[in-house]
Amino acid sequence: MNSPQLPSYISRENVGPWHIYLQQVEKVAPLLDKALWPWVETLRRPKRALIVDVPIRLDNGEIAHYEGYRIHHNTSRGPGKGGVRYHQDVTLSEVMALAGWMTIKNAVVNVPFGGAKGGIRVDPRQLSLAELERLTRRYTSEIDMMIGPDKDIPAPDMNTNAQVMAWMMDTYSMNQGRTATGVVTGKPLSLGGSLGRPDATGRGVFVTAREAAKKLDLTILGARVAVQGFGNVGEASARMFAQAGAKIVAVQDVSATLYNPNGIDLVALKQYFAEHRTLLGAPDCELISAHDFWCVPCEFLVPAALEAQINQYNAACINARVIVEGANGPTTPEAEVILAERNVLVVPDVLANAGGVTVSYFEWVQDFSSFFWSEEEINQRLERIMAEAFQAIWQLAEERKLSLRTAAFVIGCSRVLEARSIRGLYP
Ligand code: NAD
Repeated sequence: MNSPQLPSYISRENVGPWHIYLQQVEKVAPLLDKALWPWVETLRRPKRALIVDVPIRLDNGEIAHYEGYRIHHNTSRGPGKGGVRYHQDVTLSEVMALAGWMTIKNAVVNVPFGGAKGGIRVDPRQLSLAELERLTRRYTSEIDMMIGPDKDIPAPDMNTNAQVMAWMMDTYSMNQGRTATGVVTGKPLSLGGSLGRPDATGRGVFVTAREAAKKLDLTILGARVAVQGFGNVGEASARMFAQAGAKIVAVQDVSATLYNPNGIDLVALKQYFAEHRTLLGAPDCELISAHDFWCVPCEFLVPAALEAQINQYNAACINARVIVEGANGPTTPEAEVILAERNVLVVPDVLANAGGVTVSYFEWVQDFSSFFWSEEEINQRLERIMAEAFQAIWQLAEERKLSLRTAAFVIGCSRVLEARSIRGLYP
């Protein structure tokens, strides 16, 4: 497993999310079947990476430039698949890592996709709706050569939603001269979106938490849950837990950290957020510091915001029995060591948040066949896939004395590299 002539972007001195992804691959490589070792290097390199300039005219007449990316990490098992993130801290390293995790995740739940991801370094809160539409359309045009229903299918991620997907689908369709609904997933229902997609990631987080609870003899009923992020993933996860009788004792978003040991009323909180666009000032909650969020006593902790939130500075104070990673890459390798010593179970991102891409796969299949399924059917299929993936990972982890993350990587990497080796090298 030698790595001759490493490209600069995978230098071992690099820091950032890509470096974390690489550390995870290094850890798992010796555990893979020896026949796959010659192919491991493919996981350390994105297949292709595109950096684009996205110029737009602002409402005040000025022109602003933003940097955008689309990465195909690996397409051995099928077309690329992964979200598009709009955030002021987006970097090439971050988007490469997110694409790498998509490769592993899609293989873990065995959907026939490779890994991809995109993003723009922009604070979307500073843009009007019209500016956001122009940004999305220009970005879509710039990455047009990378995407397509059988090539690479974007989806929502942080700060992007069904409306952004509708603009992407329309722009791609205009450029192609035909309506191509299957080019993105997470679309509005009226454009070939799927029932169950908005809640799918949160539902998957909940299903894997429920499966973990069974293994640890915990009950969801009455369990205390702390959730970081009150967006697509965080809000839906919290709602699923609450519907099953859990108590949401803390919620943190970019604006505030709320605490109520008796349980936060999520319906009221969602309504407050819809009216005020901030959690600050929400009734019946104590405002605590951002750091104290991590020390809240709870059975389940769900990070559902950004990477590296659980790190060497806060891991020792975590007072949870299980961490269910709704976000991608929320736990650093240093934190993971501390958590293992403290017997905190981590259900890794590549499993826990795979519900979104699983229902995205259902959406893509429905678009191709122009035949749409009921929500009940979608939720049932999702639950089955998530529960089976959890079971397979748990079993491997027990058999080989691995963490759930390493077991998930063994399963995911093996599937990717088997496909890679059977395909062989061209020419
Ligand atoms: P979102 O934009 O809908 O919500 C993000 C939430 O995080 C917001 O509540 C925001 O206030 C909060 N947040 C942002 N910065 C924060 C900070 N510094 N501290 C605390 N909270 C902060 O995004 P989302 O789609 O829910 O994605 C959240 C995470 O889940 C990301 O890591 C994403 O990659 C991952 N994920 C999303 C999906 C999906 O289907 N949307 C699927 C899989 C994984």
